[in-house]
Amino acid sequence: MRCPLTTASQRRVLCVFPAYTPSFGTFSHAYRLMGRVRAFMPPQGLLLIAAYLPAAWPVRFIDENIRPASAADFDWADIVLVSGMHIQAPQIRDIAARAHAAGKIAVLGGASVSGSPELYPDYDYLHLGEIGDATDRLIARLDESVVAPPAQMRFETQERLPLSDFPVPAYHLIPLDRYLIGSLQFSSGCPYRCEFCDIPALYGRQPRLKTAEQITAELDTMLAQPGHPYVVYFVDDNFIGNRKAAREILPHLIAWQRKHGYPVQFTCEATLNLAKQTEILSLMREAQFVTVFVGIETPEADALKAMRKDHNASLPMMEAIGTLNKYGLEVTSGIILGLDTDTADSENRLKKFIDLSHIPILTINLLQALPRTPLWDRLLRDGRLIADDAGLESNVRFLRPYDEVVATWRRCIAYAYDPDRLFARFLHQVDTTYVNRIATPARGKLNMNNLRRGVVLAFNVAVRVGLLSDYRRSFWRAARYALRRGQIDAVLGMGFVAHHLIHFSREALRGDQNASFYSTQGRERANAQGGNPLPSLRQSA
Ligand code: SF4
Repeated sequence: MRCPLTTASQRRVLCVFPAYTPSFGTFSHAYRLMGRVRAFMPPQGLLLIAAYLPAAWPVRFIDENIRPASAADFDWADIVLVSGMHIQAPQIRDIAARAHAAGKIAVLGGASVSGSPELYPDYDYLHLGEIGDATDRLIARLDESVVAPPAQMRFETQERLPLSDFPVPAYHLIPLDRYLIGSLQFSSGCPYRCEFCDIPALYGRQPRLKTAEQITAELDTMLAQPGHPYVVYFVDDNFIGNRKAAREILPHLIAWQRKHGYPVQFTCEATLNLAKQTEILSLMREAQFVTVFVGIETPEADALKAMRKDHNASLPMMEAIGTLNKYGLEVTSGIILGLDTDTADSENRLKKFIDLSHIPILTINLLQALPRTPLWDRLLRDGRLIADDAGLESNVRFLRPYDEVVATWRRCIAYAYDPDRLFARFLHQVDTTYVNRIATPARGKLNMNNLRRGVVLAFNVAVRVGLLSDYRRSFWRAARYALRRGQIDAVLGMGFVAHHLIHFSREALRGDQNASFYSTQGRERANAQGGNPLPSLRQSA
């Protein structure tokens, strides 16, 4: 639904989504292999607000991961509306400065400001919490006036808009073909309480849900746009946060895929205990879920217990990963270093885990304390929070020496993304995972856009990875193996993903990338470069 208010004025709203800092999980180095792609994933939250604004208010949407908002964009607007996460904080502040320089009021909502409103004193209006009563009060205020208030005004949601009343995000305002993957939200919230995670405090522990009709309507909207991404990511905090709901939505996804000839593949975030849900796994396979991001965090059981994530240890870890692979799901894993439980042996255990799990993509990061988490509260009590401007890779005073923690991180990414090892893990997926996926009809994918994209990708992988790279031998070893089994998609996928991971890890080892998603070093570097920093997967699920 749209905002139910009757407005008296017409306001031109410029929605600006800030650029992201590059990370392992964004594949930014691989965009050049894909032709038109410039950004990772459409920003759900800001697109939702854009769709909720009064129908009479014209909206222009700029994702600065694709192109920066121009002077003409700011001139056009009455209001500049921004949303973002902590990792984008410097870029968020920069947009306010540009809006004010153009004489426009700046409004900020989203996850970062909801967790830490004090970080953004320069904004005229803050929207705290999810879409709800605060959104309506803010719209009423903007309808009255677009003159900057004498002091910052805050609007905090007390009553959230039910997800079942969410409008279809304003996909029509963005060029979907510039994104690597599409995004979709079915639920919000997670029942667990992992120590480092801000999801329960921000979005609640009782997952709230959209209806099946909403989800298929969103998919229809994406499908209507030529060149829509081939992969759609469920951005839910934990796809199985409500297992019954997951079980019930999946048949609708299967029916939608069958009706349209399987035009997309799905991916999501979920806890590792998904491996116990064989009925859900069968349905996911049928709906063509192909990867799942799991916050494995650490292979050490004591560490999982200490961070209150022992649900990850509810069955043996390798067995759980193997089960997901049997249903055609390639696992992507989040890993955290710098935990209080880390010892001199943690590095070896992580390397062993990388080898035994055969997980190709691991986002290995240093622990970072986020506001509104039990970790933040504990470290604050213990005097172990470090100021953001200290120029370190994390805001946590580790128990082990800082230099040793960072050196461990460097050795672990060097180990994980050594080309021989990386392609060996991909090769392992050919028989253990890719072969278990269902064969889908070509009908849904056979269109000019996909053909063009496929040709461009195949050419670039063959030339840049298979011919010109210094890791071509490792690539061809895995590629030949997959080709002999007819897995052409797998060859393109592994070439594409590895290209990013190898290049990104080499940059990180040279000191050109940060060790934590939220590191001030990384943020400042991204700003100084003025380039096109891109999103990271967060520490969740
Ligand atoms: S880390 Fe994942 S499982 Fe834990 S609370 Fe956050 S979303 Fe839930």
